[in-house]
Amino acid sequence: MILVAGSAHLDILSRTSVDDDSVDKIGSVSISIGGCAGNIATNIAEMGGEARLLTAMNQSAYSRIIESHLVSLGVEPIIVSDPTLPLAAFVAHINSKGELVSAISSMPVDRVEFSENALTHAFAGIDAVIAECNLSETNLLKLAKAATDAELPFYIGGVSESKVCRVLTLAGTGFVTALFCNMREAVRLLDYSGCDDYLELASVIGGNFVVTQGAEGVKIFNTSGMTIVQGCSIQEVTNGNHLGAGDMLMASTIHNHIAGVPFPLAIEMGTLKTENILARQNCSLGAPDAMEKIISQNRHQSLYDGLTGLLNRRATLSVAESMIALARRSGRSVAVMIFDIDHFKGVNDTWGHDAGDEVLKQVAQVTTDTLRESDIVGRWGGEEFVCAMIDANLDAAFDVANRLRQRISEQVTEPKIITISGGIVMLEHGENISSAITRADALLYDAKHGGRNQIRR
Ligand code: GH3
Ligand code: MG
Ligand code: MG
Repeated sequence: MILVAGSAHLDILSRTSVDDDSVDKIGSVSISIGGCAGNIATNIAEMGGEARLLTAMNQSAYSRIIESHLVSLGVEPIIVSDPTLPLAAFVAHINSKGELVSAISSMPVDRVEFSENALTHAFAGIDAVIAECNLSETNLLKLAKAATDAELPFYIGGVSESKVCRVLTLAGTGFVTALFCNMREAVRLLDYSGCDDYLELASVIGGNFVVTQGAEGVKIFNTSGMTIVQGCSIQEVTNGNHLGAGDMLMASTIHNHIAGVPFPLAIEMGTLKTENILARQNCSLGAPDAMEKIISQNRHQSLYDGLTGLLNRRATLSVAESMIALARRSGRSVAVMIFDIDHFKGVNDTWGHDAGDEVLKQVAQVTTDTLRESDIVGRWGGEEFVCAMIDANLDAAFDVANRLRQRISEQVTEPKIITISGGIVMLEHGENISSAITRADALLYDAKHGGRNQIRR
């Protein structure tokens, strides 16, 4: 398990189609989920590794989306929650050539100090730590020290030009296994450190100092000098839709390094992996896919009953209204039935709630099997179901209802024989679905009082 600490946030990107001076530009906008630590963690999970992400967010719905996104990609999030934090987001403008023109980062993770509790929880059972410089200096130091105390490798990335000072907090501590920078970050870091060259800088920081971009390849500086991993075409990859390429390189390198691959070879493997991903245009692996998944799950949950898979009450009404509108236009009939399981409470009371749930599922299944595909079946409430049948006159619908009653009593027999009572009406001219259900419900009441196991019309 690798602990990744840092930011995970919404990536809101706008890209102009043509560059001109107008304020109101034409182009495209995308929203996905990124953040250096978020990307690294999801990339590790995608490669089959185990990743835990330590981050901080506010309690907005968007934060919950980010969290669900991470979970759906196989990452275990530990989120320090604080309602006063701003939304975690990276909002960027990209020009028509794919270059990053401007960006605003809102990464609240640097406003939070991780408690000892959060750190203890985060460090349980891990093999390595990756921290990024969106974290505060205090958190960086805490993580580095905790990793070193636990004899775990400690990697740093996500330096970004404006945050190089944070890296230097760790200079001379001997905590760093490897530091990853892109070209611009490296130049800035060198400038800020006052060192003469990268070799000196590497010796100050300790471990491996990796510069991930450049025409010659990826450069690794450490006490034995400089190594170049050639054949790497990752240049200027942090721009445009290659956002996250550096994160991918880090994730892959570290994933392999921890598995025992020597550092320069791990970098080479990381480079190849990143190039492959670059060919697919997007380095935030699975970012859009997971958003799609979360949204379709939400949509599904808002329409369907979780137990039986039938339409829920609200969706039954709206789908039935659409059916009615269609039927009216073409002068077709609609029959509406409500039915209720007889003495269902006894099932729960005698055999338990799980047995009751099983009966509900089976009744739902027999009902959908018995009705036509064009008919609507919904779970109206507890053990009550509503059906709407198009193109059926009262006699035909009554026959179907009785066939259903018969089948349920034959097929749903565990833990006891189940019967239903129901009421059935024809939708009248100008009548809405709710009114038809109310009329059918009155007949259901009669059926119950008439001895149950019967359909009234
Ligand atoms: P009647 O023949 O008059 O309809 O009697 P009944 O026992 O079926 O009716 P009653 O309204 O007294 O009880 C309905 C029971 O359905 C009570 C409630 O706990 C149970 N129920 C409602 N929803 C669920 C559910 O999702 N799962 C289970 N297991 N039971 C449920
Ligand atoms: Mg009942
Ligand atoms: Mg009932």
